[in-house]
Amino acid sequence: MTERLYEQNAYCRSFEATVAAVEKENGRYIVTLDKSAFFPEGGGQPGDRGTIGGCAVSDTQMNAGGEILHYMKKEPDFAAGEKVSCALDWTLRFARMQAHTGEHIVSGLAHRLTGAENVGFHMDGTLMTVDFDLPLSKETLDEIERQANERVYENAAVRAFFPSPTEAEKLVYRSKLEFVERLRLVEIEGVDLCACCAPHVKRTGEIGLIKILTAVSHRGGVRITLLCGRSAYEDYAVKYKNTLYCADLLKEKHNELPRALDALLEKEGALRLKLAAASKKYTDQVISSAPRCAGHGAVFVEEATNEELCRIAEACKTRCGGISACFGGDDCKGYCFAMSLPDEKYLPFTKTILEALRGRGGGKGCFLQGKCAAGRAEIEAFFAGFAML
Ligand SMILES: [Zn+2]
Repeated sequence: MTERLYEQNAYCRSFEATVAAVEKENGRYIVTLDKSAFFPEGGGQPGDRGTIGGCAVSDTQMNAGGEILHYMKKEPDFAAGEKVSCALDWTLRFARMQAHTGEHIVSGLAHRLTGAENVGFHMDGTLMTVDFDLPLSKETLDEIERQANERVYENAAVRAFFPSPTEAEKLVYRSKLEFVERLRLVEIEGVDLCACCAPHVKRTGEIGLIKILTAVSHRGGVRITLLCGRSAYEDYAVKYKNTLYCADLLKEKHNELPRALDALLEKEGALRLKLAAASKKYTDQVISSAPRCAGHGAVFVEEATNEELCRIAEACKTRCGGISACFGGDDCKGYCFAMSLPDEKYLPFTKTILEALRGRGGGKGCFLQGKCAAGRAEIEAFFAGFAML
């Protein structure tokens, strides 16, 4: 069993150790040491990263025998028996200590205030998801978040300890893990007592901001996403920058954005209706002034959206009783064919159109739309040969 330095001191970020073994497995290298401060994945928290003897550790796990396995993608340049200097990716590890301790406060408060149990915990980077077995309202979660941050300001002590079985019997604690080996409890003074194997900060003041981001119904309860500490600060910084950007764009104060966006959307809705009416009027005019033809015909317009090209082609097809197409659009290269052809003719004809007009595109049912390189004279010549259909 590897001596677990992170249990004695969660703040141990560099240490000297002796290499016990270096093994290769599935293209990766596994290094074991006599002692380690690398926290192996457990209790929902990913394994630590860092360096051993200058070589990068990409993941840390623990095997059934209690050995800490340090995974490396590249072959290390040291061997069993050698002394090596080891260092954690401390920025990441400390962010996870902030996150995990913050989660204990939130879960402890949820339990105290509502009786909800934490039934699932996962940390992805430093973003956490926490599952509770009861549905918690937005107001309840707001209150939990508010109180959690109060606990941070109080700078309460955080202590991890291994109670004896008799001591443990007298204690009331939250537990989501089966501790087969030995029970480790993490106490946050006046807030929570919970079984946990992970490293935590010493005082709640080190956590910084605690922020619940989202809450969705999950298996009869609720799943929240949670950010704490540096990660919450970084998230705030990005969101504030985005907020200021939007406020600047709308020439509004940032706390006026919801009202300004509501007004903007209302205005946009009204404009859409106006635009739809104008578009209908325009296409009706094009359709009524299009040359009447028996069977097949092409219409050319200077400016139109794809929807308008299709509307014109469809109306002309119905009026002429054959195949019609509308050419134009913003770049004068768009087209839409409206065709009533039996299936066996439709597919070969689509190919004929694309080849003749040097076009690309596709369609559904009786529509074919896209862009073509052919000019008006070529298109008219192509339509002149339609009698073959
Ligand atoms: Zn924990």
